[in-house]
Amino acid sequence: MLAEFDIPEGANLIGGQWVAPASGARLDLTDPSDGSHLTQIARGQADDIDMAVAAAHAALDGTWGRMTALERGRILTKMGQLVLTRVESLAVLEARDVGKPLTQARADAVALARYLEFYGGAADKITGQTIPYLDGYTVYTLREPHGVTGHIVPWNYPMQIIGRSVGGALAMGNACVLKPAEEACLTALAFAAIAAEAGLPDGALNVVTGLGGEAGAALSAHRDVQHLSFTGSVGTGGLVQAAAAQNVVPVTLELGGKSPQVVFDDAELDRALPFLVNAGIQNAGQTCSASSRILVQRGVYDRVRDMMAAEYAKLTVGPAMDDLRVGPLISARQKEIVEGFLAKGQDLEIAAQGEIVGHAPPEGQFVRPTLFADVPPDHPLAQQEIFGPVQVLIPFDDEAEAIRIANGTDFGLVASVWTSDGGRQMRMAKALKTGQVFVNNYGAGGGVELPFGGIGKSGHGREKGFEALYGFSVLKTVATWHG
Ligand code: NAD
Repeated sequence: MLAEFDIPEGANLIGGQWVAPASGARLDLTDPSDGSHLTQIARGQADDIDMAVAAAHAALDGTWGRMTALERGRILTKMGQLVLTRVESLAVLEARDVGKPLTQARADAVALARYLEFYGGAADKITGQTIPYLDGYTVYTLREPHGVTGHIVPWNYPMQIIGRSVGGALAMGNACVLKPAEEACLTALAFAAIAAEAGLPDGALNVVTGLGGEAGAALSAHRDVQHLSFTGSVGTGGLVQAAAAQNVVPVTLELGGKSPQVVFDDAELDRALPFLVNAGIQNAGQTCSASSRILVQRGVYDRVRDMMAAEYAKLTVGPAMDDLRVGPLISARQKEIVEGFLAKGQDLEIAAQGEIVGHAPPEGQFVRPTLFADVPPDHPLAQQEIFGPVQVLIPFDDEAEAIRIANGTDFGLVASVWTSDGGRQMRMAKALKTGQVFVNNYGAGGGVELPFGGIGKSGHGREKGFEALYGFSVLKTVATWHG
């Protein structure tokens, strides 16, 4: 599958070379749309991570470490341009590997290019400060790279997450070791090939594929890694943070969510409707910032439920290459998890469900998108991250109750509020305990420029935008006494 990118099967990229893992072991990749075998990837382990970390340090001591910010920026920009020439190939890889409908996979490839362009342009615009101080001193600050940064990414948006995490780290002059999710590695490997083609020096980006408990755990616990960026589940994030703590290494955690959209009586419902539904079913609901809770004021509750139910009735689910609105889930395991949640909802009212197309292969990981109505805010379906195309409708009476319910989970990633009342927009934006708040929209079109991250169990640290570059660098203060 990777022949187009000149990548041998079962290899890692270490120090600019495609090499088999030390153990020679491999893992199978499967197409979630039909269960067919796609290819094999390397089952990298601690030895391979050691070599990748050593190669990254060598890059910092060599050409990569000596490059100016302008030169780094130009390479990142070139990487973005090359990605744009390969959107279709990358989208097909992602559709087959992750089960993402082609249109959504194309959008991810374009977003990857946009991250690289953004961080390419930003690389030489991060500056320090001069600080007025005691007589006889000149004091200034420098922004320097951490050194070697580890990047552990999940399977749901490989291209976007690599773009924002590796893109930001490279812009600041770090050398990266990337560990993609074992379920979805193909675009990570293709990205590495594109980076080399753009002139990224050997060792500045190394990719080791493999299992989380092996390659991922080895990277998290590595003594020669200076920063870790982790995107994934809450449980694994805790393990990564605990491993990094042994070496006192800083960690950015981008974890899950239970993000609400809050619809007031005075909302523009026709504008809200596509956002209310899409934010729940995009990527089959396997989105950290999916909106899985729809809180609706009682005056418009029946209308919103009927409007959303009519949309759900139109949803079709099928193979990624059919490019319907909803594709399969990533794996049999994920399907089992989502079906477990649907079973927990059997005491609830189902407002509507989408349909799986008749020709969908029985080996595909398809589930019907499901909208539940009148869900109590403390029900497991309204509290726990499902990571599937499932949304719950929750009625509320007034602003105070909406805030209480919206903030009433362990998570705090994003939220939106739909209202025409300017004062309420401001009050809600302040009151919602999340990393991002959207007013009269949801997601703001993805927003490479917009700092992103959570509070509570949604994680800590920020990626995207300029803010990420502060996280991917260390501040040094220089105080010179000159009399
Ligand atoms: P996961 O935590 O199982 O896996 C994520 C990554 O961690 C994979 O690369 C995996 O191999 C690795 N990993 C697994 N065990 C490890 C260990 N012991 N040590 C080190 N690494 C290990 O999560 P997932 O099922 O792949 O992804 C789904 C979760 O990710 C959801 O909870 C979702 O909300 C979250 N997510 C968050 C964001 C965000 O930006 N906040 C984005 C996408 C996904």
